Amino acid sequence: MRIYEDPYLLQQQALAWRQAGEEIGLVPTMGALHAGHESLVTRARRENARVVVSIFVNPLQFGPDEDFARYPRPFDQDAGRLTALQVDALFHPSVDQLFPRSFKSAVDPGPLGDRLEGQARPGHFRGVLTAVLKLFELAQPKRAYFGQKDIQQLLLVRQLGRDFALPVHVVACPTVREPDGLALSSRNVYLTAEQRQHAPVIFAALRAAEAAFRRGERDAERLEQLARDRMAAAPGLAVEYVACFDEIGLQRPARAAAGNILATAVKLGSTRLIDNVVLGAGSD
Ligand code: AMP
Repeated sequence: MRIYEDPYLLQQQALAWRQAGEEIGLVPTMGALHAGHESLVTRARRENARVVVSIFVNPLQFGPDEDFARYPRPFDQDAGRLTALQVDALFHPSVDQLFPRSFKSAVDPGPLGDRLEGQARPGHFRGVLTAVLKLFELAQPKRAYFGQKDIQQLLLVRQLGRDFALPVHVVACPTVREPDGLALSSRNVYLTAEQRQHAPVIFAALRAAEAAFRRGERDAERLEQLARDRMAAAPGLAVEYVACFDEIGLQRPARAAAGNILATAVKLGSTRLIDNVVLGAGSD
């Protein structure tokens, strides 16, 4: 595995691979890798001649009061994991290399960027999509791998690809969970032992609502309320939102239908966690 810090060296390599007819799979990450990231990399490895993984804690997608400075950055450990997964290139630019002072443009995510996560985190998706577009141009992927866990991000990247006719196939990968259901996240390390003990209620609540859907409940607000009620019992957990929405417009459906998403954001102490399930997919 070769480590690239200079964006233009990575781009040169990627263009050379493309010219040689080798398809590239890209897995964008912020590092602090866990089995969720690894599942994306493993799939990329299976489906592409070349695999590029980026590790970049993107300042553009963090709000001023968020955890950019303290976000975990165990780079050597991450690099070891990626070597073991037979990644070809690890792209690890500095902030100045990816977004130098001369950088001026940004991707406007449009109206979908203002809902849900975007409402709670103004500017978040503008930062995400700006970085993703640049990563696509640098790594020249045929396929890019994103986790279902960050469902709105996945849908907005898809929208970006459609809107700008990007020649990249956006591959959605299922959420990897702890045995007790908690979705793996680099932010789980922030949880105290007590918070960690209560965290599984997040997925349990979504799953309970999803089970109600499968039993015939089609009222989206009632499904949301069911999940909210289930989480209300957990001490120290504050629900930011529970939202049922369709995959295209991110709007609450008049009647919930299979394929709609039930997503939540909660705070456990100062740690913000998100999760979601797809209605009708069955999760138990
Ligand atoms: P992050 O490093 O948090 O930006 O995540 C990088 C990629 O890994 C994103 O596409 C995430 O959606 C994905 N990801 C994060 N956690 C998980 C998980 N538990 N299961 C599957 N994919 C995940």
